[in-house]
Amino acid sequence: MPNITPIRRGFGQCAAPGCSNQTRSSVSPLCTKHHSRARVHGDAQQTLVTRRELRAYEDRVRKVMATGKQELIVSSLKEITRRLTEYAQAELARFHRGHAMNRHLVTACDQIEKVTKSGDSIETATTIAAMFLLRDQQPRRFASDRGFIGQTVRQFRLPSGIARGVTYDPNTDQTKGWFRPMSRKATEQLGRIIIEAYKPWLVHLKQAEGRLQEEEQRISRDLAAAFDGARRQAAE
Ligand SMILES: [Zn+2]
Repeated sequence: MPNITPIRRGFGQCAAPGCSNQTRSSVSPLCTKHHSRARVHGDAQQTLVTRRELRAYEDRVRKVMATGKQELIVSSLKEITRRLTEYAQAELARFHRGHAMNRHLVTACDQIEKVTKSGDSIETATTIAAMFLLRDQQPRRFASDRGFIGQTVRQFRLPSGIARGVTYDPNTDQTKGWFRPMSRKATEQLGRIIIEAYKPWLVHLKQAEGRLQEEEQRISRDLAAAFDGARRQAAE
């Protein structure tokens, strides 16, 4: 029996804390603003993680990478990308042969195929690791796991250009870029697949980051002791 209850407008109050707007419809818990934010950012409370904000964390990831064997890191990351591409292509081929598949998974695989084909393996891995580093150091930056996944997926899709739409504005004679969101479920699927694929990379990078941090702290302690010792001697 299909649901024939008409969708009523202005039904109730938005579920986002502190928002008193009316919901989009009787079936949506959110107002228009928070619904679109949930779609674009992964969570209605999540705000955008900008490229600029992420840059310092990407630099830190590169610094950590420099402490390891370069060729081995590069070949491992290329291997992860290759396996991701193969997985996505296999799923898409299954779908094109007529297998019934979850459409969100199909969308996710289509996006993965495009990103891995056009993107740079090392850059992508650096960006994903930077997102995890940002979350480790500023857990409150993310409203929820969903918000984190939404932002990570966005960063994953951005460089390949597939997440960008461009609109020409005749009034200003300029083009305006905008972000093309995926559905919440496709975002979740894509997030799950890439986090799983990059897990070995994320684990080892985090360990190497911890070691680098310890080393930096030790150097700092030694220098503090060195200057402190020198000062004490001078005072005697
Ligand atoms: Zn709202």
